[in-house]
Amino acid sequence: MEKLVALTKRRGFIFQSSELYGGVNGAWDYGPLGVELKRNVKDAWWKAMVRDREDVVGLDSAILMHPMVWRASGHVANFADPMIDCKKCKKRYRVDEIQPDYEETGIVPTQCPDPKCKGELTPARKFNLMFETVLGPVADSANKTFLRPETAQGIFANFINVTNSTRIKVPFGIAQVGKSFRNEINPRNFTFRSREFEQMEMEFFCKPGSDDQWFEYWVEERKKWYASLGIKMEKLRFRAHDKEKLSHYSKATTDVEYQFPFGWGELEGIANRTDFDLRAHQIGMRSVGRWKGEELQDFQLVDEDPEFAGGKLSYFDEEEKRRYIPYVIEPAAGADRATLAFLCDAYDEDDAGGEVRVVLRLHPRLAPVKAAILPLVKKEGMPERARKLYDALKKRWPVVYDESAAVGRRYRRQDEIGTPFCFTIDGDTMKDGTVTMRERDSMKQERVSEDAVVRLVEERLEG
Ligand code: ATP
Repeated sequence: MEKLVALTKRRGFIFQSSELYGGVNGAWDYGPLGVELKRNVKDAWWKAMVRDREDVVGLDSAILMHPMVWRASGHVANFADPMIDCKKCKKRYRVDEIQPDYEETGIVPTQCPDPKCKGELTPARKFNLMFETVLGPVADSANKTFLRPETAQGIFANFINVTNSTRIKVPFGIAQVGKSFRNEINPRNFTFRSREFEQMEMEFFCKPGSDDQWFEYWVEERKKWYASLGIKMEKLRFRAHDKEKLSHYSKATTDVEYQFPFGWGELEGIANRTDFDLRAHQIGMRSVGRWKGEELQDFQLVDEDPEFAGGKLSYFDEEEKRRYIPYVIEPAAGADRATLAFLCDAYDEDDAGGEVRVVLRLHPRLAPVKAAILPLVKKEGMPERARKLYDALKKRWPVVYDESAAVGRRYRRQDEIGTPFCFTIDGDTMKDGTVTMRERDSMKQERVSEDAVVRLVEERLEG
C-alpha cells in the first residue's frame, strides 16, 4: 500500500487535500492522471448503467436539498455512528471498530485500545455523520440543511419529475454520479474512507413481487461490470448480509468487497430497499406544511394513512390498471473506492532484465493515457514524424509525446502510469513507414504500419 500511495503522489494521480497547509484529513485531490483514471471509471459505469440500456435514465441532482428530505429519509434520526473518546489520550473511536460485536451485544469497551495508553473511555454516544450547513445569510434553524450524505435521495425526490417528463415505465432505473459528504469519525486507508467522495448510484423501480428477481439480476450485472474491467475475480467477493443484520429499510443486501492490501473492504452495496424511500417521502411531503422551521430532530412526521398506496409517489401501472408504490433495487457504488481497487489490482512489479519494473496493469479503457509516441532520437526527422502520429491520435484519446531520455527509460515511465501501448519512430520508419508497437503487459514489440496505428488502438480500446 505504501508503494502505491507513493506512486500515486509521485506521478500525479492523488494528492492530499490542502497539503500546502499540512493537509486536511479525509479529503483528496486527483491530479492530472488521477482525474482521467477516475473519469474513466465513472464513464465505464455510466456506459454500462445508462447508455447501453433502454430502461435506465440519468440524473444530476443538487447537493443541497430541502432539510425535510433528510428528516423523511431517516438520516436526521439514524445516520449516526456510535462514538467513544479516551479521557486520557483524547483519541476518538467508532465503537463498532474497536468492539466488532457492539451492535448485537451492546457491549461497550471501557479501556482505550491503544496498548500504550489503556486510559478510561467515555460512554458511547451517537454522532450524526451529516455535515450541517446554512442556506442563505441567516443562520436560524429553518435555514439549516445538510450536504447530502448519499446521492440516492436526489433520485427519490425526482421520481415524479422523471416519470412525468419521460415515457419510461416500470421497471426502470434512474442513475446518478456525484459528490457525497460524510463526517466520518476516522477517515483512513487512503481514499477508501473519506469525508468527501463520489458515488455512482442507481435506483431501479420495479413492481412489488418482482423485486427478488431484479435483486438477483443486479447482483449479476454488477459482477459482470467489474469482470469486464479486468479486476482479479479472486480478489472480489459478494457477501450477502444475514437477514438479522439488515438495515431497517432493506429486505436483502449484498456487498461487493475487494481484497485491498489493508483487508477486505466494501466497494458497493446492492440493496432491496423495498418501497421504504418513496413511502417515507410521501409522509414527508404531507408533513412539510406543518413544519415551521423548528429543529428537525423535534419535528414529527405525519403518520402513515390507509390511502397510502394511492399517494403522490405511487405509480399507475397501465397494464394492470392499478396504482402501487414501486419497490427499489439499489446498486450503490463508490467512485473513489472503485478507482482505488483498480489501482491496487493493477499494481505490479516484475523482473525486466535484472531490474525491477513497476507497472500498472490497468484495463486499456481505464488507463489515463492510452498511448505514448516516442521518437527514438531527437534528429533525422523523427520528432516531426512522431508529432504527426501524435496529432492524429490526440484527436481521439489522451496520448503523450515524449522525446527525452533513453527509450528504455521512457517505456518504464509509461509502464508506471499504466499506458497500454508505446509507438516508437526510428530509422526504419523513415524508410518503410513502419513503427515499433510495444505492449505494456508482455513488453512484446512488433512492427506495424504507421497508417494502421489509429485503427489498432481503437480495436484494443473499443473492440
Ligand atoms: P461503510 O460501511 O464502508 O461506511 P456504507 O455501507 O455506509 O459504507 P453506503 O452507504 O452503502 O456505504 O454507500 C455506498 C457506497 O458509497 C459504498 O459502498 C462506498 O463505495 C461509498 N462510500 C460510502 N462511504 C464512503 C466514504 N466515507 N469514503 C469513500 N466512499 C464511501
